[in-house]
Amino acid sequence: MQYNRILLKLSGEALMGERQYGIDPKRLAEYAEEIKSVTEKGIEVAIVIGGGNIFRGVAGASKGMDRVQGDHMGMLATVINGLALQSALEDAGIQTRLQSAIKINEVAEPFIRRKAIRHLEKGRVVIFGGGTGNPYFTTDSAAVLRAIEIHADIILKGTRVDGIYTADPEKDKKATKFDFISFEDVIKKGLKVMDTTAFTLSHENELPIIVFDMNTPGNLIRVATGEQIGTKVNI
Ligand code: UDP
Repeated sequence: MQYNRILLKLSGEALMGERQYGIDPKRLAEYAEEIKSVTEKGIEVAIVIGGGNIFRGVAGASKGMDRVQGDHMGMLATVINGLALQSALEDAGIQTRLQSAIKINEVAEPFIRRKAIRHLEKGRVVIFGGGTGNPYFTTDSAAVLRAIEIHADIILKGTRVDGIYTADPEKDKKATKFDFISFEDVIKKGLKVMDTTAFTLSHENELPIIVFDMNTPGNLIRVATGEQIGTKVNI
């Protein structure tokens, strides 16, 4: 079963590649190829990208900076990442549009839901920058919100780990992976998939989430065409 319209969530850290911060052009080019293979199947792709590789608001707040100020910096960081991803995708020959939740019209289109859907229908990859446009949220919340707004079939959360485990697999050797899990079980077992706000929004709107390893080449197309990899959170 192939999805028609996906929302891919990538964390800012994913763009660092082997680096300690910032953007690794090699990693960006790899992701662009992965995304291209999906668009070539006729699957519509929207992307929400994080900003943690450049700035994380909470981290700034803990060092004495005002929380809202820090969050604004974090949101702008997602626009920077969006611009970088846009360039990489266009280098790979894919048409793209970057829409920002914060008005920054010389740099990116403003977020207009109907326009975003039109771009997708025309086969353009739409990158949503600026998170939700509000402080105190995360890009996971932005991903769920946009996915619901554009009627995406699913959120694909690309991470470093290959799914949801009973415990942190990097710490607990006995941890086992779920292939499928319900929203209720994630909550009951206290597992971490997204922050609570984002997760609740997804649950309430019956929007399934797949957590998968984005760094294994070929995984994105496999998951987008319905192959069972990673963990699917479903109602
Ligand atoms: N942010 C925000 N509102 C949003 C999305 C993001 O204020 O709707 C800020 C927040 O400070 C966050 C930072 O932007 O820490 C970067 O986003 P996030 O931490 O979600 O990025 P990721 O972890 O995916 O790289």
